[in-house]
Amino acid sequence: MYKLTPPSLIFETSRPGRSTAILPGCDVPFEPIESMIPSEHLAEACPPLPELGELDIVRHFTNLSALNMSIDSNFYPLGSCTMKYNPKRNERLAGLPGFFMQHPYQDESTLQGLLQLLYEVQHDLAEIAGLDAVSLQPAAGAQGELTALMVAAAYFRDKGEKRTKVLVPDSAHGTNPASAHLVGFEAVTIKSNAQGLVDLADFHAKLDDETAVFMITNPNTVGLFDPQIKTIADALHARGALLYLDGANMNAILGAVRPGDMGADLMHYNPHKTFSGPHGGGGPGAGPIAVRDFLAPYLPSPMVGKRDDGTYFLTHDMPKSIGRVRAYFGNTGVLYRAYCYIRSQGPDGLKAVSQHAVLNANYLMSLVRHVYPVPHGDRCMHEFVASARGMARERGVRAMDIGKRLLDYGYHAPTVYFPLIVPEALMIEPTETESRETLEAFAAVLLKIAAEDPQILHDAPSGTPISRPDEVKAAKIPILKWVPPTA
Ligand SMILES: *Cc1c(COP(=O)(O)O)cnc(C)c1O
Repeated sequence: MYKLTPPSLIFETSRPGRSTAILPGCDVPFEPIESMIPSEHLAEACPPLPELGELDIVRHFTNLSALNMSIDSNFYPLGSCTMKYNPKRNERLAGLPGFFMQHPYQDESTLQGLLQLLYEVQHDLAEIAGLDAVSLQPAAGAQGELTALMVAAAYFRDKGEKRTKVLVPDSAHGTNPASAHLVGFEAVTIKSNAQGLVDLADFHAKLDDETAVFMITNPNTVGLFDPQIKTIADALHARGALLYLDGANMNAILGAVRPGDMGADLMHYNPHKTFSGPHGGGGPGAGPIAVRDFLAPYLPSPMVGKRDDGTYFLTHDMPKSIGRVRAYFGNTGVLYRAYCYIRSQGPDGLKAVSQHAVLNANYLMSLVRHVYPVPHGDRCMHEFVASARGMARERGVRAMDIGKRLLDYGYHAPTVYFPLIVPEALMIEPTETESRETLEAFAAVLLKIAAEDPQILHDAPSGTPISRPDEVKAAKIPILKWVPPTA
Protein backbone atom coordinates (compact mmCIF):
# COMPACT_ATOMS: atom_id res chain seq x y z
CA MET A 1 0.00 0.00 0.00
CA TYR A 2 1.17 3.51 -0.64
CA LYS A 3 0.28 6.81 0.87
CA LEU A 4 0.35 10.07 -0.99
CA THR A 5 -0.71 13.49 0.15
CA PRO A 6 -2.82 15.66 -2.11
CA PRO A 7 -0.59 18.24 -3.75
CA SER A 8 -1.21 21.96 -3.46
CA LEU A 9 -2.42 23.73 -6.54
CA ILE A 10 0.32 25.61 -8.31
CA PHE A 11 -1.61 28.80 -7.56
CA GLU A 12 -1.43 28.08 -3.86
CA THR A 13 2.34 27.62 -4.03
CA SER A 14 2.71 30.89 -5.90
CA ARG A 15 4.37 33.91 -4.17
CA PRO A 16 4.24 37.38 -5.72
CA GLY A 17 7.49 38.40 -7.37
CA ARG A 18 9.01 34.93 -7.73
CA SER A 19 10.03 33.92 -11.21
CA THR A 20 12.06 31.46 -13.18
CA ALA A 21 13.20 33.32 -16.25
CA ILE A 22 15.27 36.47 -16.29
CA LEU A 23 14.86 37.83 -19.78
CA PRO A 24 16.98 40.68 -21.14
CA GLY A 25 15.09 43.86 -21.87
CA CYS A 26 13.91 44.39 -25.42
CA ASP A 27 16.54 46.26 -27.43
CA VAL A 28 14.65 46.57 -30.72
CA PRO A 29 11.82 48.96 -31.47
CA PHE A 30 8.41 47.33 -31.08
CA GLU A 31 4.79 48.29 -31.32
CA PRO A 32 3.06 48.27 -27.95
CA ILE A 33 0.69 45.31 -27.87
CA GLU A 34 -2.28 47.60 -27.22
CA SER A 35 -1.87 49.17 -30.64
CA MET A 36 -1.96 45.79 -32.45
CA ILE A 37 -5.02 44.24 -30.77
CA PRO A 38 -8.43 45.88 -31.13
CA SER A 39 -9.39 47.30 -27.77
CA GLU A 40 -12.52 45.16 -27.42
CA HIS A 41 -10.32 42.05 -27.36
CA LEU A 42 -7.94 43.34 -24.71
CA ALA A 43 -8.38 41.97 -21.20
CA GLU A 44 -8.75 44.55 -18.51
CA ALA A 45 -6.01 43.20 -16.34
CA CYS A 46 -3.27 40.65 -16.63
CA PRO A 47 -4.61 37.23 -15.52
CA PRO A 48 -3.28 36.14 -12.12
CA LEU A 49 -0.63 33.69 -13.27
CA PRO A 50 1.27 31.65 -10.69
CA GLU A 51 4.72 32.97 -9.76
CA LEU A 52 7.27 30.33 -8.76
CA GLY A 53 10.95 29.49 -8.96
CA GLU A 54 12.05 26.78 -11.39
CA LEU A 55 12.70 24.10 -8.76
CA ASP A 56 9.24 24.54 -7.31
CA ILE A 57 7.70 24.17 -10.77
CA VAL A 58 9.72 21.03 -11.54
CA ARG A 59 8.76 19.45 -8.21
CA HIS A 60 5.14 20.42 -8.62
CA PHE A 61 4.74 18.68 -11.97
CA THR A 62 7.00 15.74 -11.18
CA ASN A 63 5.02 14.94 -8.04
CA LEU A 64 1.76 15.48 -9.85
CA SER A 65 2.75 13.00 -12.56
CA ALA A 66 3.50 10.36 -9.91
CA LEU A 67 -0.11 10.55 -8.67
CA ASN A 68 -1.40 9.08 -11.92
CA MET A 69 -2.01 5.39 -12.26
CA SER A 70 -0.34 4.45 -15.48
CA ILE A 71 0.57 1.34 -17.34
CA ASP A 72 4.24 2.23 -16.74
CA SER A 73 3.75 2.12 -12.98
CA ASN A 74 0.84 -0.23 -12.24
CA PHE A 75 -1.04 -3.27 -13.53
CA TYR A 76 -4.03 -1.84 -15.33
CA PRO A 77 -6.64 -4.53 -16.07
CA LEU A 78 -9.26 -2.15 -17.45
CA GLY A 79 -11.58 -4.32 -19.52
CA SER A 80 -12.56 -3.12 -22.99
CA CYS A 81 -9.76 -0.57 -23.06
CA THR A 82 -6.74 -2.85 -23.64
CA MET A 83 -4.23 -1.00 -21.46
CA LYS A 84 -1.21 -2.93 -22.60
CA TYR A 85 2.45 -2.08 -22.51
CA ASN A 86 3.52 0.26 -25.29
CA PRO A 87 7.08 -0.50 -26.40
CA LYS A 88 9.34 2.48 -25.76
CA ARG A 89 11.03 1.84 -29.09
CA ASN A 90 7.84 3.07 -30.78
CA GLU A 91 8.14 6.37 -28.97
CA ARG A 92 11.69 6.85 -30.21
CA LEU A 93 10.76 6.01 -33.80
CA ALA A 94 7.63 8.17 -33.81
CA GLY A 95 9.79 10.99 -32.45
CA LEU A 96 12.29 10.91 -35.32
CA PRO A 97 12.50 14.49 -36.61
CA GLY A 98 11.76 13.32 -40.17
CA PHE A 99 8.30 12.36 -38.95
CA PHE A 100 7.36 14.65 -36.19
CA MET A 101 8.87 17.87 -37.58
CA GLN A 102 6.73 17.68 -40.72
CA HIS A 103 4.08 20.23 -41.51
CA PRO A 104 0.81 19.30 -43.23
CA TYR A 105 1.12 22.30 -45.59
CA GLN A 106 4.45 21.08 -46.96
CA ASP A 107 4.48 20.24 -50.63
CA GLU A 108 3.55 16.63 -51.35
CA SER A 109 6.94 16.02 -52.96
CA THR A 110 8.60 16.71 -49.59
CA LEU A 111 6.23 14.42 -47.68
CA GLN A 112 7.02 11.19 -49.52
CA GLY A 113 8.31 9.32 -46.45
CA LEU A 114 5.22 10.15 -44.42
CA LEU A 115 2.90 9.26 -47.29
CA GLN A 116 4.69 5.97 -47.88
CA LEU A 117 4.30 5.05 -44.22
CA LEU A 118 0.60 5.93 -44.23
CA TYR A 119 0.10 4.02 -47.48
CA GLU A 120 1.68 0.95 -45.93
CA VAL A 121 -0.45 1.31 -42.79
CA GLN A 122 -3.54 1.45 -45.02
CA HIS A 123 -2.33 -1.72 -46.71
CA ASP A 124 -1.49 -3.58 -43.48
CA LEU A 125 -4.79 -2.69 -41.83
CA ALA A 126 -6.71 -3.83 -44.92
CA GLU A 127 -4.86 -7.13 -44.87
CA ILE A 128 -5.42 -7.73 -41.14
CA ALA A 129 -9.11 -6.89 -41.67
CA GLY A 130 -9.52 -9.06 -44.73
CA LEU A 131 -11.14 -6.01 -46.36
CA ASP A 132 -10.22 -3.87 -49.34
CA ALA A 133 -9.77 -0.18 -48.49
CA VAL A 134 -8.78 1.80 -45.41
CA SER A 135 -9.24 5.40 -44.32
CA LEU A 136 -6.85 6.64 -41.65
CA GLN A 137 -8.69 9.88 -40.95
CA PRO A 138 -10.93 9.17 -37.95
CA ALA A 139 -9.32 10.30 -34.71
CA ALA A 140 -10.81 7.68 -32.34
CA GLY A 141 -12.76 4.45 -32.41
CA ALA A 142 -15.98 6.34 -31.83
CA GLN A 143 -15.27 8.63 -34.77
CA GLY A 144 -14.46 5.55 -36.84
CA GLU A 145 -17.94 4.21 -36.06
CA LEU A 146 -19.48 7.53 -37.01
CA THR A 147 -17.48 7.71 -40.25
CA ALA A 148 -18.28 4.14 -41.24
CA LEU A 149 -21.99 4.72 -40.67
CA MET A 150 -21.76 7.90 -42.77
CA VAL A 151 -20.16 5.77 -45.50
CA ALA A 152 -22.99 3.23 -45.19
CA ALA A 153 -25.59 6.00 -45.34
CA ALA A 154 -23.95 7.46 -48.47
CA TYR A 155 -23.92 4.00 -50.07
CA PHE A 156 -27.63 3.42 -49.49
CA ARG A 157 -28.47 6.97 -50.58
CA ASP A 158 -26.55 6.37 -53.79
CA LYS A 159 -28.49 3.15 -54.38
CA GLY A 160 -31.73 5.00 -53.76
CA GLU A 161 -32.58 2.82 -50.77
CA LYS A 162 -34.21 4.28 -47.71
CA ARG A 163 -32.94 2.43 -44.69
CA THR A 164 -33.45 3.95 -41.29
CA LYS A 165 -32.32 1.41 -38.69
CA VAL A 166 -29.08 0.26 -37.15
CA LEU A 167 -29.23 -2.85 -34.97
CA VAL A 168 -27.01 -2.89 -31.87
CA PRO A 169 -26.71 -5.71 -29.29
CA ASP A 170 -27.41 -4.73 -25.68
CA SER A 171 -23.85 -5.73 -24.76
CA ALA A 172 -22.40 -3.08 -27.11
CA HIS A 173 -20.21 -0.16 -26.13
CA GLY A 174 -22.30 2.97 -25.67
CA THR A 175 -20.60 4.66 -28.60
CA ASN A 176 -22.33 2.23 -31.03
CA PRO A 177 -25.92 3.43 -30.53
CA ALA A 178 -24.66 6.99 -30.08
CA SER A 179 -22.91 6.90 -33.48
CA ALA A 180 -26.00 5.44 -35.14
CA HIS A 181 -28.11 8.20 -33.66
CA LEU A 182 -25.68 10.94 -34.72
CA VAL A 183 -25.81 9.77 -38.34
CA GLY A 184 -29.60 9.93 -38.20
CA PHE A 185 -30.39 6.24 -37.86
CA GLU A 186 -32.70 4.75 -35.29
CA ALA A 187 -30.64 2.51 -32.97
CA VAL A 188 -32.57 -0.72 -32.33
CA THR A 189 -31.39 -2.87 -29.41
CA ILE A 190 -30.93 -6.61 -29.94
CA LYS A 191 -31.08 -8.74 -26.80
CA SER A 192 -28.33 -11.06 -25.64
CA ASN A 193 -29.22 -14.66 -24.87
CA ALA A 194 -28.38 -16.59 -21.68
CA GLN A 195 -24.91 -17.37 -23.06
CA GLY A 196 -24.10 -13.68 -23.50
CA LEU A 197 -24.28 -13.93 -27.32
CA VAL A 198 -26.66 -12.35 -29.83
CA ASP A 199 -30.22 -13.63 -29.31
CA LEU A 200 -30.86 -14.89 -32.85
CA ALA A 201 -34.64 -14.94 -32.44
CA ASP A 202 -34.63 -11.27 -31.43
CA PHE A 203 -32.22 -10.49 -34.27
CA HIS A 204 -34.40 -12.17 -36.90
CA ALA A 205 -37.51 -10.52 -35.48
CA LYS A 206 -35.99 -7.04 -35.77
CA LEU A 207 -34.12 -7.45 -39.06
CA ASP A 208 -36.21 -5.95 -41.86
CA ASP A 209 -35.85 -4.06 -45.14
CA GLU A 210 -35.36 -0.82 -43.22
CA THR A 211 -32.22 -2.21 -41.60
CA ALA A 212 -29.05 -0.54 -42.86
CA VAL A 213 -26.36 -1.97 -40.59
CA PHE A 214 -25.88 -4.42 -37.75
CA MET A 215 -23.04 -3.33 -35.45
CA ILE A 216 -21.43 -6.26 -33.71
CA THR A 217 -18.41 -6.45 -31.44
CA ASN A 218 -16.77 -9.84 -31.91
CA PRO A 219 -15.36 -11.02 -29.60
CA ASN A 220 -17.96 -9.11 -27.64
CA THR A 221 -17.69 -7.06 -24.47
CA VAL A 222 -18.40 -10.13 -22.33
CA GLY A 223 -15.17 -11.56 -23.74
CA LEU A 224 -16.88 -14.19 -25.89
CA PHE A 225 -16.53 -14.95 -29.57
CA ASP A 226 -19.97 -15.17 -31.15
CA PRO A 227 -19.90 -18.27 -33.39
CA GLN A 228 -23.24 -17.26 -34.95
CA ILE A 229 -21.46 -14.52 -36.87
CA LYS A 230 -21.73 -16.22 -40.26
CA THR A 231 -25.48 -16.83 -39.83
CA ILE A 232 -25.89 -13.19 -38.85
CA ALA A 233 -23.83 -11.95 -41.83
CA ASP A 234 -25.75 -14.14 -44.29
CA ALA A 235 -29.13 -13.00 -42.97
CA LEU A 236 -28.07 -9.34 -43.26
CA HIS A 237 -26.67 -9.72 -46.75
CA ALA A 238 -29.80 -11.54 -47.93
CA ARG A 239 -31.70 -8.38 -46.97
CA GLY A 240 -29.17 -6.05 -48.57
CA ALA A 241 -27.99 -4.78 -45.16
CA LEU A 242 -24.37 -4.40 -44.03
CA LEU A 243 -22.41 -5.94 -41.17
CA TYR A 244 -20.22 -3.60 -39.12
CA LEU A 245 -17.56 -5.00 -36.84
CA ASP A 246 -16.48 -2.93 -33.85
CA GLY A 247 -12.77 -3.77 -33.82
CA ALA A 248 -11.96 -2.65 -30.27
CA ASN A 249 -11.27 -6.28 -29.34
CA MET A 250 -9.01 -7.10 -32.27
CA ASN A 251 -6.18 -8.01 -29.91
CA ALA A 252 -8.04 -11.28 -29.29
CA ILE A 253 -8.13 -12.47 -32.91
CA LEU A 254 -5.17 -11.00 -34.82
CA GLY A 255 -3.94 -13.48 -37.38
CA ALA A 256 -6.55 -16.05 -36.30
CA VAL A 257 -9.67 -14.79 -38.06
CA ARG A 258 -10.30 -11.69 -40.16
CA PRO A 259 -13.44 -9.54 -39.92
CA GLY A 260 -13.80 -9.74 -43.70
CA ASP A 261 -13.86 -13.54 -43.48
CA MET A 262 -16.57 -13.31 -40.83
CA GLY A 263 -18.68 -11.43 -43.36
CA ALA A 264 -18.09 -7.89 -42.08
CA ASP A 265 -18.41 -5.12 -44.67
CA LEU A 266 -17.02 -2.32 -42.52
CA MET A 267 -15.06 -2.06 -39.30
CA HIS A 268 -12.97 0.27 -37.19
CA TYR A 269 -9.69 -0.28 -35.43
CA ASN A 270 -8.51 1.29 -32.19
CA PRO A 271 -4.72 1.46 -32.72
CA HIS A 272 -4.42 2.88 -29.19
CA LYS A 273 -5.82 -0.42 -27.92
CA THR A 274 -4.59 -3.03 -30.38
CA PHE A 275 -1.45 -1.55 -31.89
CA SER A 276 0.29 0.01 -28.91
CA GLY A 277 -0.63 3.67 -29.19
CA PRO A 278 -0.22 5.20 -25.72
CA HIS A 279 -3.69 5.35 -24.28
CA GLY A 280 -4.83 7.63 -21.57
CA GLY A 281 -5.75 11.14 -20.62
CA GLY A 282 -8.32 11.16 -23.39
CA GLY A 283 -6.02 10.72 -26.33
CA PRO A 284 -4.92 11.28 -28.93
CA GLY A 285 -6.11 8.03 -30.43
CA ALA A 286 -7.02 6.99 -33.92
CA GLY A 287 -9.92 5.10 -35.47
CA PRO A 288 -9.03 3.89 -38.96
CA ILE A 289 -11.84 2.14 -40.79
CA ALA A 290 -11.65 -0.69 -43.30
CA VAL A 291 -14.39 -1.43 -45.84
CA ARG A 292 -15.24 -3.72 -48.75
CA ASP A 293 -14.46 -2.54 -52.27
CA PHE A 294 -18.04 -1.46 -53.08
CA LEU A 295 -17.94 0.99 -50.15
CA ALA A 296 -14.49 2.41 -50.94
CA PRO A 297 -15.74 5.26 -53.18
CA TYR A 298 -17.57 6.79 -50.20
CA LEU A 299 -14.60 6.84 -47.81
CA PRO A 300 -13.36 10.19 -46.53
CA SER A 301 -11.05 11.94 -48.94
CA PRO A 302 -8.17 12.31 -49.31
CA MET A 303 -6.61 8.86 -49.04
CA VAL A 304 -3.00 8.04 -49.82
CA GLY A 305 -2.36 6.58 -53.27
CA LYS A 306 0.73 5.26 -55.04
CA ARG A 307 1.67 6.08 -58.62
CA ASP A 308 3.24 3.67 -61.07
CA ASP A 309 6.56 5.51 -60.70
CA GLY A 310 6.58 4.64 -56.99
CA THR A 311 5.72 8.10 -55.67
CA TYR A 312 2.85 8.72 -53.25
CA PHE A 313 0.05 11.26 -53.44
CA LEU A 314 -3.18 12.33 -51.80
CA THR A 315 -6.21 11.16 -53.76
CA HIS A 316 -8.47 14.20 -53.91
CA ASP A 317 -10.41 12.88 -56.89
CA MET A 318 -13.17 10.99 -55.06
CA PRO A 319 -16.52 12.39 -56.26
CA LYS A 320 -18.63 10.10 -54.06
CA SER A 321 -16.59 10.65 -50.91
CA ILE A 322 -18.36 11.77 -47.75
CA GLY A 323 -15.58 14.40 -47.50
CA ARG A 324 -13.20 15.06 -44.66
CA VAL A 325 -13.83 13.95 -41.11
CA ARG A 326 -10.50 15.13 -39.72
CA ALA A 327 -7.98 17.80 -40.61
CA TYR A 328 -4.89 16.86 -42.62
CA PHE A 329 -3.80 13.20 -42.41
CA GLY A 330 -5.45 12.01 -39.17
CA ASN A 331 -3.55 11.50 -35.93
CA THR A 332 -0.30 10.48 -37.56
CA GLY A 333 1.56 10.11 -34.26
CA VAL A 334 -0.63 7.15 -33.30
CA LEU A 335 -0.39 5.71 -36.82
CA TYR A 336 3.45 5.82 -36.73
CA ARG A 337 3.37 3.76 -33.55
CA ALA A 338 0.88 1.32 -35.08
CA TYR A 339 3.20 0.95 -38.05
CA CYS A 340 6.22 0.27 -35.81
CA TYR A 341 4.21 -2.25 -33.83
CA ILE A 342 2.73 -4.12 -36.80
CA ARG A 343 6.01 -4.24 -38.70
CA SER A 344 8.13 -5.22 -35.70
CA GLN A 345 5.73 -8.03 -34.73
CA GLY A 346 5.15 -9.31 -38.25
CA PRO A 347 2.33 -11.75 -39.05
CA ASP A 348 3.51 -14.46 -36.64
CA GLY A 349 4.17 -11.93 -33.88
CA LEU A 350 0.68 -10.47 -34.18
CA LYS A 351 -0.82 -13.93 -33.98
CA ALA A 352 1.26 -14.60 -30.85
CA VAL A 353 0.01 -11.30 -29.36
CA SER A 354 -3.55 -12.58 -29.57
CA GLN A 355 -2.69 -16.05 -28.33
CA HIS A 356 -1.04 -14.53 -25.26
CA ALA A 357 -3.92 -12.11 -24.66
CA VAL A 358 -6.35 -15.02 -24.63
CA LEU A 359 -4.08 -17.26 -22.55
CA ASN A 360 -3.50 -14.56 -19.92
CA ALA A 361 -7.20 -13.78 -19.60
CA ASN A 362 -8.11 -17.45 -19.22
CA TYR A 363 -5.35 -18.06 -16.69
CA LEU A 364 -6.41 -15.09 -14.57
CA MET A 365 -10.06 -16.12 -14.81
CA SER A 366 -9.18 -19.63 -13.64
CA LEU A 367 -7.46 -18.19 -10.55
CA VAL A 368 -10.42 -16.13 -9.35
CA ARG A 369 -13.70 -17.45 -10.72
CA HIS A 370 -14.41 -19.70 -7.70
CA VAL A 371 -14.78 -16.50 -5.69
CA TYR A 372 -15.74 -14.05 -8.42
CA PRO A 373 -18.26 -16.00 -10.55
CA VAL A 374 -18.19 -15.46 -14.31
CA PRO A 375 -21.78 -15.86 -15.54
CA HIS A 376 -21.04 -16.29 -19.26
CA GLY A 377 -18.81 -18.94 -20.79
CA ASP A 378 -16.32 -21.54 -19.55
CA ARG A 379 -13.49 -19.98 -21.50
CA CYS A 380 -12.98 -16.40 -22.53
CA MET A 381 -11.16 -14.50 -25.23
CA HIS A 382 -9.02 -11.47 -24.23
CA GLU A 383 -11.15 -10.46 -21.23
CA PHE A 384 -13.76 -11.84 -18.86
CA VAL A 385 -16.61 -10.31 -16.93
CA ALA A 386 -17.08 -11.46 -13.34
CA SER A 387 -20.11 -10.58 -11.27
CA ALA A 388 -20.04 -9.36 -7.67
CA ARG A 389 -23.80 -9.90 -7.36
CA GLY A 390 -23.40 -12.72 -4.81
CA MET A 391 -21.06 -10.62 -2.66
CA ALA A 392 -23.46 -7.68 -2.92
CA ARG A 393 -26.34 -9.84 -1.70
CA GLU A 394 -24.48 -11.65 1.05
CA ARG A 395 -22.10 -9.02 2.39
CA GLY A 396 -23.21 -5.74 0.90
CA VAL A 397 -19.94 -5.44 -1.02
CA ARG A 398 -20.40 -4.01 -4.49
CA ALA A 399 -18.26 -4.04 -7.64
CA MET A 400 -17.41 -0.39 -7.00
CA ASP A 401 -16.07 -1.23 -3.51
CA ILE A 402 -13.80 -3.92 -4.94
CA GLY A 403 -12.54 -1.60 -7.67
CA LYS A 404 -11.82 1.13 -5.11
CA ARG A 405 -10.06 -1.25 -2.75
CA LEU A 406 -7.75 -2.44 -5.54
CA LEU A 407 -6.36 1.11 -5.71
CA ASP A 408 -5.09 0.68 -2.15
CA TYR A 409 -3.07 -2.31 -3.29
CA GLY A 410 -1.56 -0.42 -6.21
CA TYR A 411 -3.75 -1.80 -8.98
CA HIS A 412 -5.90 0.14 -11.37
CA ALA A 413 -9.53 -0.92 -11.02
CA PRO A 414 -11.12 -3.11 -13.68
CA THR A 415 -14.00 -1.63 -15.64
CA VAL A 416 -17.08 -1.79 -13.40
CA TYR A 417 -20.81 -1.90 -14.22
CA PHE A 418 -20.14 -2.55 -17.91
CA PRO A 419 -21.36 -4.37 -19.93
CA LEU A 420 -24.83 -3.69 -18.65
CA ILE A 421 -26.04 -7.27 -19.15
CA VAL A 422 -23.93 -8.49 -16.19
CA PRO A 423 -25.10 -7.29 -12.75
CA GLU A 424 -22.31 -5.86 -10.57
CA ALA A 425 -19.90 -6.37 -13.47
CA LEU A 426 -16.14 -6.46 -13.03
CA MET A 427 -14.66 -6.51 -16.51
CA ILE A 428 -11.08 -7.67 -16.39
CA GLU A 429 -8.57 -7.58 -19.24
CA PRO A 430 -5.01 -8.46 -18.27
CA THR A 431 -3.66 -8.08 -21.84
CA GLU A 432 -0.91 -10.06 -23.49
CA THR A 433 1.98 -8.12 -22.02
CA GLU A 434 1.68 -9.11 -18.34
CA SER A 435 3.82 -11.80 -16.74
CA ARG A 436 2.52 -14.87 -14.95
CA GLU A 437 3.82 -13.42 -11.65
CA THR A 438 1.83 -10.21 -12.11
CA LEU A 439 -1.35 -12.15 -12.84
CA GLU A 440 -0.86 -14.39 -9.80
CA ALA A 441 -0.15 -11.45 -7.50
CA PHE A 442 -3.25 -9.65 -8.74
CA ALA A 443 -5.41 -12.76 -8.30
CA ALA A 444 -4.11 -13.16 -4.75
CA VAL A 445 -5.13 -9.58 -3.95
CA LEU A 446 -8.59 -10.06 -5.47
CA LEU A 447 -9.11 -13.14 -3.27
CA LYS A 448 -7.81 -11.30 -0.22
CA ILE A 449 -10.19 -8.39 -0.83
CA ALA A 450 -13.14 -10.79 -1.05
CA ALA A 451 -12.40 -11.86 2.54
CA GLU A 452 -11.88 -8.37 3.98
CA ASP A 453 -14.20 -6.59 6.39
CA PRO A 454 -16.96 -4.97 4.26
CA GLN A 455 -16.51 -1.69 6.13
CA ILE A 456 -12.89 -1.42 4.94
CA LEU A 457 -14.13 -1.90 1.40
CA HIS A 458 -16.88 0.73 1.76
CA ASP A 459 -14.28 3.22 2.99
CA ALA A 460 -11.69 2.37 0.34
CA PRO A 461 -9.49 3.70 -1.02
CA SER A 462 -7.78 4.95 2.10
CA GLY A 463 -4.25 5.20 0.69
CA THR A 464 -4.87 7.54 -2.22
CA PRO A 465 -4.81 11.35 -2.12
CA ILE A 466 -8.50 11.50 -2.96
CA SER A 467 -10.82 8.80 -1.69
CA ARG A 468 -14.19 8.76 -3.42
CA PRO A 469 -14.99 11.70 -5.65
CA ASP A 470 -18.59 12.22 -6.67
CA GLU A 471 -18.25 10.35 -9.98
CA VAL A 472 -21.28 11.92 -11.63
CA LYS A 473 -20.37 15.46 -10.66
CA ALA A 474 -16.72 14.88 -11.57
CA ALA A 475 -17.81 13.86 -15.07
CA LYS A 476 -20.65 16.32 -15.56
CA ILE A 477 -19.59 19.44 -13.68
CA PRO A 478 -15.79 19.28 -13.65
CA ILE A 479 -14.10 22.30 -12.09
CA LEU A 480 -11.32 23.02 -14.53
CA LYS A 481 -10.42 26.54 -13.47
CA TRP A 482 -8.81 27.85 -10.34
CA VAL A 483 -10.94 30.44 -8.63
CA PRO A 484 -9.12 32.71 -6.22
CA PRO A 485 -10.47 32.41 -2.69
CA THR A 486 -12.61 35.41 -1.80
CA ALA A 487 -11.27 37.17 1.24
C1 LIG B 1 -13.08 1.66 -26.73
C2 LIG B 1 -14.23 1.14 -27.45
C3 LIG B 1 -14.91 1.92 -28.40
C4 LIG B 1 -14.64 3.39 -28.63
O1 LIG B 1 -13.32 3.65 -29.02
P1 LIG B 1 -12.57 5.02 -28.66
O2 LIG B 1 -11.29 4.89 -29.36
O3 LIG B 1 -12.46 5.07 -27.17
O4 LIG B 1 -13.43 6.14 -29.20
C5 LIG B 1 -15.93 1.32 -29.11
N1 LIG B 1 -16.30 0.05 -28.88
C6 LIG B 1 -15.68 -0.73 -27.96
C7 LIG B 1 -16.13 -2.14 -27.76
C8 LIG B 1 -14.64 -0.20 -27.22
O5 LIG B 1 -14.03 -0.96 -26.29
